Amino acid sequence: MMKRPLTIRLCGPRGFCAGVDRAIQIVVLALKKYGAPVYVRHEIVHNRYVVEGLQARGAVFVEELDEIPPEHHAQPVVFSAHGVPKSVPADAEARNLFYLDATCPLVSKVHKQAMRHQRQGRHVLLIGHAGHPEVIGTMGQLPDGAVTLVETEEDAAGIQPADPTALGFVTQTTLSVEDTAGIISALQARFPQMQAPAAESICYATTNRQDAVKEAAPGADLFLIVGAPNSSNSMRLVEVAERAGAKRGLLVQRASEIPWNEIGNIGTLGLSAGASAPEIIVDEIIDAFRERFDVTVDLAVTAEETENFPVNRVLRDIELTTA
Ligand code: SF4
Repeated sequence: MMKRPLTIRLCGPRGFCAGVDRAIQIVVLALKKYGAPVYVRHEIVHNRYVVEGLQARGAVFVEELDEIPPEHHAQPVVFSAHGVPKSVPADAEARNLFYLDATCPLVSKVHKQAMRHQRQGRHVLLIGHAGHPEVIGTMGQLPDGAVTLVETEEDAAGIQPADPTALGFVTQTTLSVEDTAGIISALQARFPQMQAPAAESICYATTNRQDAVKEAAPGADLFLIVGAPNSSNSMRLVEVAERAGAKRGLLVQRASEIPWNEIGNIGTLGLSAGASAPEIIVDEIIDAFRERFDVTVDLAVTAEETENFPVNRVLRDIELTTA
């Protein structure tokens, strides 16, 4: 039987960002240098495939440091790319643990900007999603009560800061560029003296992936984003695709999750991947479509990325000998 034609608009940039790539390298290099087990606090990145791959090599994922048995306290524990509250390295030191911090440098930059606002006497408004590990980490850079979380424009309309003239904001790195602009405008209208961070908090990878999806979305019958439901930047890409004109956006973690019986006779598919999704799954999805359709791949490339963040100093000798 003749296969139906399907154009896949494949976005670029897509998938792994420099911060995720670095975090995975840190775990892999730590395993090479120190042997298994290497403990990892929280999912190193929000991707089950990556987590399972690292587990197979000897990484052990824990939620809290007290889960690490005393006989393994000399083995490294890695903190995830999302960043951690200050209490976590302090706790590791108190327990005499050897930790490697895989916090993305762009998240650390947001931490510094939040601390800078506070040093300058400002109450910090953090625009982000409650409960996300990055938000927990950023709030945990400052004492309790020094940061107010703003999730929506409604929150922006409702907050009652003690001193409306002494405010500074930062944002989570993986938000929707447009939603965030709306929240910032709502805050600026109420608090004209609110200070912005010295540099944009939404990171290059988030912005670039959203731009490419916007380019590819108009008229697409379906837009698939490869990513996990707890991956903030991946969820935002689904929203961006639908807002930019895709008829339907859908998040999938593997090709096996594609709901073939719902897809029907599509002619154009948009395809991208969140910053924590490996390219091998994008390939798997394209192959799955090739089995069912006569596929043509069109690239929707809106930027070139050259960012590369070095791993922790203590691991650089391993990197050099295994490169
Ligand atoms: Fe860093 Fe951005 Fe990647 Fe998060 S999405 S790890 S902030 S580069």
